[in-house]
Amino acid sequence: MPMKTGTQYIESLKKLKPKVYCFGEKVESVVDYPLFKPHIHAAAMTYELAHKPEFQEIMTATSHLIGERVNRFTHIHQSTEDLVKKVRMMRLLGQRTGTCFQRCVGLDALNGIYVTSYDIDQKYGSEYHERFKDFLRYVQQNDLMSAGAMSDPKGDRSLRPHEQEDPDVYLRVVERQSDGIIVRGAKAHITGSINSHEIITMPTRAMGPEDKDYALSFSVPVDTEGITLIFGRQTNDTRRLESELDAGNPKYGIVGGEALIIFNDVFVPWERVFMCGEHEFALELVETFAGYHRSNYGGCKVGLADVVIGASAWIAESNGIERASNIRNTLTEMVNLAETCWSCALACSYEGYQTPSGAYTINPLLANVEKLNITRFTYEWMRLAQDIAGGIIITLPSERDYEHPEIGKYIDKYFKGKKGFSTLDRIRMYRLIENMAVGAGLPEAMQGAGSPTAMKIMIGRGANIDRKKDLAKVIAGIDEDPYFKGIAQVKEDKAKAKV
Ligand SMILES: Cc1cc2nc3c(=O)[nH]c(=O)nc-3n(C[C@H](O)[C@H](O)[C@H](O)COP(=O)(O)OP(=O)(O)OC[C@H]3O[C@@H](n4cnc5c(N)ncnc54)[C@H](O)[C@@H]3O)c2cc1C
Ligand code: SF4
Repeated sequence: MPMKTGTQYIESLKKLKPKVYCFGEKVESVVDYPLFKPHIHAAAMTYELAHKPEFQEIMTATSHLIGERVNRFTHIHQSTEDLVKKVRMMRLLGQRTGTCFQRCVGLDALNGIYVTSYDIDQKYGSEYHERFKDFLRYVQQNDLMSAGAMSDPKGDRSLRPHEQEDPDVYLRVVERQSDGIIVRGAKAHITGSINSHEIITMPTRAMGPEDKDYALSFSVPVDTEGITLIFGRQTNDTRRLESELDAGNPKYGIVGGEALIIFNDVFVPWERVFMCGEHEFALELVETFAGYHRSNYGGCKVGLADVVIGASAWIAESNGIERASNIRNTLTEMVNLAETCWSCALACSYEGYQTPSGAYTINPLLANVEKLNITRFTYEWMRLAQDIAGGIIITLPSERDYEHPEIGKYIDKYFKGKKGFSTLDRIRMYRLIENMAVGAGLPEAMQGAGSPTAMKIMIGRGANIDRKKDLAKVIAGIDEDPYFKGIAQVKEDKAKAKV
């Protein structure tokens, strides 16, 4: 079975030598760097759970290419059932890590490119799709983690890629050679990239003919010559270097671990190029990838909501107020918000459809509604968690004070709750809520998979307001339903034809 365990995944990272910077220093070993460990553990969970018999159904799938059972994070969706299992997998992993487990962006890139490369080949008779399938076999056979790198730095947002003062603010081809291409530029905010095996790039927006050098998709190993990764800071990130207790979620961290990836004249062999110049397919790839990615959030973020709702309920109990009507009401409100997002995740998956490539994709209208809800409801359920937890989540003294021989006893005495709950456990739970409800996870819910405007554009496009106007006109007695008029006309034409 080509599936790595969590330990084998971490071991496999040791063989790579990416050029990574963090806090102004070069990181010699990604797996040994203390700040990165939580992210690596969270990603390792995507490997580990695939080996648990009770989760096999949702964590694994049979590959349509190699015919073997593979980790679902490398699978091309073959049915709506696959799409449903994918969001179930996301919720499960959110529950088990309490954070972003990173591997989904690469999964969505695999599926997005599978669909789009097929369509490009239909138009141009090119061989992108077959190349991509070869790459996919390699990913599945080696159970690789891929970073999905779509977002360019973008410079002046009002200008198109070719209009930018600095042409490198969108990743581009600078040279075409017989055996491959040379690329230059960068991708920003890329989740899990320092601990991925491959970096898969995609264009970030619609492109015109003048932007064809930017209409680009390829994959390269993370340690390819010319690639530099600069790791981003996160709220309270250095706490995990100081104290496990203060970190909140010491094992899995706070968000995915994002990096700015610089491509400094990187060579990419043609075998790994999946789009190069076909500008009219850039938007299709953006929308297909984004649709898959937005459909995930009602899975992963709802898994996180399960954890924060549990933490809030536990804190209320340890404060002796679990039966109070305001607390029960608030918890119910949190569940309602979370399950609304979950319903969207299921709905857009069940309402998915088959693309010409054979792969299944989600219902785009419902996936965008789902992600737009996430940009609001996550803030709301985290706000309610802050309400239940009280001010202590941002005023608690540090672990060093708690351990101090002279003053530690005061913290233990004055932060006690109900009998049967230790102060130490209460501190752990308060810190977890602080980590989840005050930290970087909030803007992640807002901006990850695109800003809310991007979702509204897609919702506007899928809304079919004209059809709704027709419906209203019929009910108001202004007009006949043009749909039925159309059917009547067809019947009339057929009748005439028979005569
Ligand atoms: C934690 C995290 C993880 C991420 N992981 C990944 C990843 O793995 N891979 C990846 O590819 N990307 C990733 N992203 C990037 C994410 O997709 C972007 O943050 C998002 O698309 C918004 O882009 P931006 O951050 O550059 O903001 P901006 O583009 O600067 O947007 C800021 C605001 O300006 C508005 N705006 C932008 N351009 C225009 C315009 N032309 N006209 C009018 N309004 C405009 C936007 O709607 C938004 O309201 C991640 C982001 C975060 C925060
Ligand atoms: S935010 Fe969710 S969907 Fe995106 S990479 Fe993290 S866990 Fe996956």
